[in-house]
Amino acid sequence: MAHPQASTASSSNAPLRCRLVVIGAGPGGYTAAFRAADLGLDVVLVERYPTLGGVCLNVGCIPSKALLHTAAVIQEAKHMDAVGVSFGPPRIDVDTLRAHKNKVIGTLTKGLAGMAQQRQVRVVTGSAAFVSPHELDIATADGTQRLVFEQAIIAAGSQPVKLPGFPWDDPRVMDSTDALQLADIPQSLLVVGGGIIGLEMACVYAGLGSAVTVVELGPQLMPGADPDLLKPLAKLLKGRGVAVHLDTRVAEVHTQKDGLQARFEGTKAPGPMRFDRVLVAVGRSPNGGKLAAEKAGVQVSERGFIPVDRQMRTNVPHIFAIGDLVGQPMLAHKATHEGKLAAEVAAGEKREWVARVIPSVAYTDPEVAWVGVTEAEAKAKGLAIEVGSFPWAASGRAIGNGRTEGLTKLILDAATQRVIGGGIVGTNAGDLIGEVALAIEMGAEVGDIAHTIHPHPTLIETVAMAAEVAEGSITDLYLPKRPKPVA
Ligand code: FAD
Ligand code: NAD
Repeated sequence: MAHPQASTASSSNAPLRCRLVVIGAGPGGYTAAFRAADLGLDVVLVERYPTLGGVCLNVGCIPSKALLHTAAVIQEAKHMDAVGVSFGPPRIDVDTLRAHKNKVIGTLTKGLAGMAQQRQVRVVTGSAAFVSPHELDIATADGTQRLVFEQAIIAAGSQPVKLPGFPWDDPRVMDSTDALQLADIPQSLLVVGGGIIGLEMACVYAGLGSAVTVVELGPQLMPGADPDLLKPLAKLLKGRGVAVHLDTRVAEVHTQKDGLQARFEGTKAPGPMRFDRVLVAVGRSPNGGKLAAEKAGVQVSERGFIPVDRQMRTNVPHIFAIGDLVGQPMLAHKATHEGKLAAEVAAGEKREWVARVIPSVAYTDPEVAWVGVTEAEAKAKGLAIEVGSFPWAASGRAIGNGRTEGLTKLILDAATQRVIGGGIVGTNAGDLIGEVALAIEMGAEVGDIAHTIHPHPTLIETVAMAAEVAEGSITDLYLPKRPKPVA
């Protein structure tokens, strides 16, 4: 499919020229290109695939959330049985569901193409590689196009790690991109890796009816997340028949006619099992090493990351880098923030990275969200903290929703009472964590949250109630009273 905005290489091969080139049209790249154009720069955006939006829109955040929504509705409908409303078992038409997911992607990617046109950002479809500090060669469908630029922003993203030794030529062995294609709903699915992708896809496929087994190398799911937040997720996964094996690695997967036979190793490893499909979700590796960046003099680490300073400049001052390829966390909202920053600096604004925190959200069911310092991290660093936790079993809204498994936690600096972290597990936790992120950025004290009037009955109230717990002013819970002063 030809991209609507794509200019093709000119037959004369005359070099294109621009003030700023952005390589890669993911959330980092398109944001940088659009912001730079809005600031008056002449911008070329190079993308190897025919649609804009990168991993996030095409094979990441957006399609996964469209499918997760479907899975969550199926679970919700099942849950309605308990309140006397029965919908019966779902009838799933995979072709229609896939078409819906593709339509969601198309709406957004077409929107980006339209906005590129409105901003007069020139989009070139092709794969870019540096030739010198001011030149790129772009391999297009019509040949190689030379581009001469004054400044560049590298936003070429990342790709799934392919575990060696797996039978990757068997289409039943999938990475996240394959799994999101939704070729079918396998009866049994092995998910290798209990990180965010593994667990989100486990929720999708379990919701659609697959028997899912997750194996995780480490001792807990989603390394880095607060274990208290993971407990409700682990319990619900178990209730939905998702088997989780921690401290386990897949020693071998081999192809058989009727499935994929997997053998496991580790202290808690199960015996060999057969699966219809296997999803490998063990992390992503940066694309920094694939652009001949050394020809521009840009340093790239052995692993493919490109080091940058607080203005997103590489070691070559007129070349910037942003997004997944500059380091963890590999998140779309980090990439867009960096994209804006790099564009503004490239346009001459005096800006640098000042954000204190980057929130993380797993859009599992229930969602798990956290921002800033976690309790475990604080303890490891020897920070003096106070914790305010509010269980959703005491939230009127959560009880009404029949989803009382949630928990909202605030972490405070003990000396200043400032909010330095927070974590939420429960439905819509990802939407709720924004308030905690804002509190940290604003340097808010716990009283600022506790004394802000939150709407009732809502789940966001649980943030205020966690603050009240920390303050000792909570009335929606009974906490043992402090001893009264002697008269
Ligand atoms: P990318 O989105 O990877 O875009 C880079 C672009 O550069 C690509 O389009 C690529 O084709 C192009 N490119 C690469 N090399 C070249 C070249 N040589 N020439 C031209 N073009 C090139 N993050 C979240 O924050 N929330 C989520 O819910 C979420 N869900 C995810 C779900 C899945 C299944 C996956 C895989 C990822 C998810 N992520 C999520 C992560 C998120 O997608 C990435 O962090 C984000 O896309 C990174 O943006 P980027 O701009 O750095 O790179
Ligand atoms: P990840 O690093 O988050 O998790 C990978 C997991 O696989 C880890 O828990 C790791 O211990 C485990 N693992 C590694 N090797 C293994 C092996 N051989 N056997 C079993 N387990 C093994 O990576 P991911 O889940 O693939 O996600 C990649 C990136 O995409 C992450 O940086 C993530 O932030 C991003 N992402 C974000 C979202 C979101 O924000 N909602 C969603 C999806 C992906």
